[in-house]
This record gives sequence, structure tokens and C-alpha cells, in this order.
Amino acid sequence: MDRKLPPRSDFTGAPERRISSTPPPAAAPTRRRSDPVKDNVKNAPELVPHAPQPFRSKQGFVRQLLARLPQLIPSSCALCGRSNPHALCEPCQRQFFTRNFRRCVQCAVPIAMSARDIRCGDCSKNKPAFDATVVACDYVAPADQLVLALKFGGDLRLPPLLAQLLHDAFLRGPMPGAGVQLVMPTMLTAVPLGRQRLQERGFNQALEIARPLAGLLDIPLVPQLVERLRETQAQSGLPLAMRQRNMRKAFIVPYLAMDHVKGRHVGIVDDVMTTGETLNEVAATLKRFGAKRVTNLVFARTLPT
Ligand SMILES: [Zn+2]
Ligand SMILES: [Zn+2]
Repeated sequence: MDRKLPPRSDFTGAPERRISSTPPPAAAPTRRRSDPVKDNVKNAPELVPHAPQPFRSKQGFVRQLLARLPQLIPSSCALCGRSNPHALCEPCQRQFFTRNFRRCVQCAVPIAMSARDIRCGDCSKNKPAFDATVVACDYVAPADQLVLALKFGGDLRLPPLLAQLLHDAFLRGPMPGAGVQLVMPTMLTAVPLGRQRLQERGFNQALEIARPLAGLLDIPLVPQLVERLRETQAQSGLPLAMRQRNMRKAFIVPYLAMDHVKGRHVGIVDDVMTTGETLNEVAATLKRFGAKRVTNLVFARTLPT
């Protein structure tokens, strides 16, 4: 088998980008680990079969059934439950996703409208490994329900909605009215789950958001750009001092992806940013392997306590 990577230009060819960024949600999460380029480009047409594929496992059957559920039930707003043709009704969108305050360009924590610096105090003192962060909302009620319904309820109509809200936030920028525009990453990837957690859940919620988001931003998605080397404890259950140590050396850029990271601007997608330690470690790993810039695209951010 030819294990050589094609030239880097294969990542930026328009037809491949289109195909790779919008594979159907039902088939992708159970895909085998493999060559990032082959998964991204060559296998993409196989993921869009013309005829239904036989179910390979019970899990595959459940996944396909879940993916079809949104088409079988009447549509309602994911937040207030009112009958609505879209996943989120207009009043809910206005109330919870159009706030106009500023956020730190680097870590997305809310900052005062009068602040002169585009960074918060923490980022000015202690620069994180990532260069920018964009979030769609704070991780508070009721928006947190969208994350919980996706992560633990397997609601697969949500990723396109979360991606749309994140896309809108990216275009709006972290500092409305200040003329600060974020630089578009060259490619997207998602924070990888550990193998055990992926098996338990059946899908990676970050990757599910990254797929439609790559389509909306019109940039390629490379799912295997970063690999998780070991399981880590949930950051939320650890004291602050332990969190950094918990994440240390948790990720690596696999051999086949190394060439594609060098000199590039990578966008990392995740569902929730809590302390930022996980995203910081992913960014530090990518930079160690030569990435020029790293931007986090995260649906919701936990407010600092
Ligand atoms: Zn609503
Ligand atoms: Zn900050």
C-alpha cells in the first residue's frame, strides 16, 4: 500500500475541500483511524453512497437510525420546544446568541467594553499556546442544554445548529465595534477523544460540530491531525494545580500528518472550553510540530469563577 502523502496542494484543491467538509453525519464517527489525507480526500466519495449500506454492527444501525430521526419527527426549537421549522427559533436566537459584549481575543473570556487591550489580564501575563479563540456563547443555561443534548443525548440534529452559531460568532469577531477580525485558519481539526470514551459515546461531539463548520467556513477538515495518546481525567473534577499535569503530553501529531501542520494555521474545534488546559495542550503540541498559528473554535465557554 502506498503510504506516501500527496503534495500539500491536495489539501487546498476546491473540489476535495467541498467533499471532505460535508460527509454525512451517520457514517463518519465510526470510521477507522487511518491516513488523514486518504480519509479526508480519497474516502470521501465512499461516504456518500447512492444505495443504503448494510449495517456492519448494532452500533452502526443505531447511529443510522439516530441520524434519520430528525427527519421523522416534527421540528421544534431545541431550546424552548415551540414548533418551529428551524432547530432554533428566532426569539431564542436573539435572546441567547446575539449579545454584544467583548471577549479576550486570545481566550474568549468576557472583558469590559472600555478595555483598551484586546487581551484579558491573564493572557497578557501568561500567553497561552493558542493565538485566538472564538466562542458562540457562555456555557450557561439554557445554551448548555444544547451541548448536553448532543453529548449525552446523541441529538444529531444539533451539530449543524451549533456550527452555524459558531460560524456567525467567528464572522462577528470577539470585539464587536472594535474592528478586530479573526484570521481564517487554513484547515480545521477537532479535539480528539480517547479511544475508550469514543467507544462509550459512539461519536466525538467536537468532530460532529467541526464537519458542518468546515463546510460553512469553506476550509478543509482534517480529523486525524492530532491524536490523543492517553486517556485523561475530566478536567472539571480536578483542582487547578492538577489540570496542567493531567493534560501534559496527552496529544501528538501523527507521522502522516506532520508535513501538513508545518507552517499552517490550524483551527481547533471543541464543544466546551472550561479552563482552556486541553486546548492549550493541543495548541502547544501543534506548535511543537511547526504550526504557525492556532485558533480555537469552541461552541461554549465556561465563565471563570
Ligand atoms: Zn425557541
Ligand atoms: Zn484571555
